[in-house]
Amino acid sequence: MKIDGACHCGYITIEGEGDPAKTTICHCSDCQTGTGSAFRVSVPVAGATFRISGQPTIYLKTTAESGHPRAQAFCPRCGSPIYSTSPGEGQQASYMVRVGILRQRKDFVPRRQIWFRSAQPWVTEIAPIQKNEKQG
Ligand SMILES: [Zn+2]
Ligand SMILES: [Zn+2]
Repeated sequence: MKIDGACHCGYITIEGEGDPAKTTICHCSDCQTGTGSAFRVSVPVAGATFRISGQPTIYLKTTAESGHPRAQAFCPRCGSPIYSTSPGEGQQASYMVRVGILRQRKDFVPRRQIWFRSAQPWVTEIAPIQKNEKQG
């Protein structure tokens, strides 16, 4: 489906085609650190359909586990994570776009969880926790 989105401050905008069936949660420790949260939710977007406006900052990280470098793109103004992809010049084959920046994020329900061995032990237990509709 067609997707579009923006970072928190609006400097970076993206659009492309994303398949909700490929929505993935990553529990790896790099994603925990890179989001400042417990896990990351992403969906692959084919490079041929991916468009971006604004100039993201690229952070190159080689994960200890896989040995593969990944280019992590985020907004230089507000810090929102935008995508990760293979390092290199020009358009890449695929972009793992961060679901939280998408206007259609409600349609991207995760279908699989990877690196679950490093998941925070409480992630499967949040349903019973007290819920306030607002800050409370
Ligand atoms: Zn921003
Ligand atoms: Zn990860």
